[in-house]
Amino acid sequence: MYKGVGVMAENVENINKDEKNNDLLYRASYDELTGVLNKRTFYLKAKEMMINNPDKQFQLLRMNVARFKVINELLGEAEGDKLLQYIGNFLRSVDLPLYEAGRLYSDHFVICFSSDDDTVKHMMYSLRYIASGFNLRHRTTLNFGLYRIDDIELPVSIMCDRANIALVQAKADFYNPYREYDDEMRRKMVLEQKILNVLDRALDEKEFIVYLQPKYDSNGDVLIGAEALVRWIHKEIDIEGEVISKFISPGDFVPVFEKNGLIYDLDKYVWRETCRLMREWLRAGLDVKPISVNVSRVDLYDPGLVDFFVDLIRCYEIPIELLELELTESAYTQDPIQILEVTDKLKDAGFTILMDDFGSGYSSLNMLKDVRVDTLKLDMGFLRSTDRSSRGGNILKAVVGMAKGLNLHVIAEGVETREQVDFLSSIGCHRIQGYFYSKPLTADEYRELLKKK
Ligand code: C2E
Ligand code: CA
Ligand code: CA
Repeated sequence: MYKGVGVMAENVENINKDEKNNDLLYRASYDELTGVLNKRTFYLKAKEMMINNPDKQFQLLRMNVARFKVINELLGEAEGDKLLQYIGNFLRSVDLPLYEAGRLYSDHFVICFSSDDDTVKHMMYSLRYIASGFNLRHRTTLNFGLYRIDDIELPVSIMCDRANIALVQAKADFYNPYREYDDEMRRKMVLEQKILNVLDRALDEKEFIVYLQPKYDSNGDVLIGAEALVRWIHKEIDIEGEVISKFISPGDFVPVFEKNGLIYDLDKYVWRETCRLMREWLRAGLDVKPISVNVSRVDLYDPGLVDFFVDLIRCYEIPIELLELELTESAYTQDPIQILEVTDKLKDAGFTILMDDFGSGYSSLNMLKDVRVDTLKLDMGFLRSTDRSSRGGNILKAVVGMAKGLNLHVIAEGVETREQVDFLSSIGCHRIQGYFYSKPLTADEYRELLKKK
């Protein structure tokens, strides 16, 4: 008996030991809160699965909860945890032969699997569905980023990063928060970082150059002015110690600067530089025409903006009608009250205002009754086909007619062909900016166009 008990005790001890080991193993491999794999084990198991199935195509889907912090704050952390468990339960219940699910941190979940696109869609749909039903007091939505694994040699952490690049893009789209990673996305992100790293030096070293794109009146092809467009000629030292110049397109850096609020510094630089050039040409007795400068949406939030412009033209002794301001239409639609206030002040101070990219946004027509602008700037890029019979042509015609009725000027930009010029003439739009007449020019090239009085 004694012995027996001893044997039993020994067995119990072994069982306990096994349980303990299992428990330790479990804790080391699984996420305590949600029961899916923890980060480290997910990396290992996903890699193992891919290596063992080299003939299969794998995907990595990363997801997180939109505004998860708000859920924690509004409904409490316990409720936030419950939501994560809820998602975890779903991920654990998925029955696919080649599939691993894990949680990286907080509300970031990842799954690695091999299946067709329909299954992926179905899975996202189900996840979205269960999330939306989680708490009726708060509409819970999920964002998704997918990386189609094209190189299984990459560390899984990098694969998760790539899916995250797509996820960050997805977040911005409320109605369809799903994106697939592509190399262009990564190129943009790396570029963004590089741009930010070199910005300060670039401003100091005067790497930003103001180009001028002429505007013409198609009645007699007369020069009527220009738009100032910034160019960044970035200088780098290569391995051999040679200085190389790289051209960075405003399409690449302007949005980055806008996002970071740095655009204001750059814009002020461009405005000042434009005034400096005009002063130089006035002094030389040239027949200087108005130049329009771009004013970003973020610039409009500075209460000192109007004074800045007033001081600027005073300082360079520029007649006020020579410095025109382009405000992009989307600024009006995004924060109308703020913008209306600033445009009023700029108008009261005597500035001419152009509404840039007119027709690209949503509520342009409605807005026109409230906003005090002088000129609508239409981008031909937005209205591709402009032959008389097309819808685009008709819209353009109606817009020009309406502008006339409101006593507004109209200028078309992005005009590339003779046909476009002729069509615009036929509907009464004679002011033209675009490659048809000229690309943006250096200040010296533009100066050549200004005749002496
Ligand atoms: P935007 O203000 O709409 O400027 C017009 C853009 O169209 C310019 O591109 C110009 O080079 C281009 N363009 C002109 N004619 C044609 C044409 O016939 N065909 C085509 N396809 N394109 C034409 P760019 O210089 O690359 O500038 C892009 C955008 O960057 C500008 O669009 C503007 O939003 C922004 N940007 C440029 N300079 C500045 C600046 O100094 N400050 C701010 N805030 N934004 C700027
Ligand atoms: Ca513009
Ligand atoms: Ca434009």
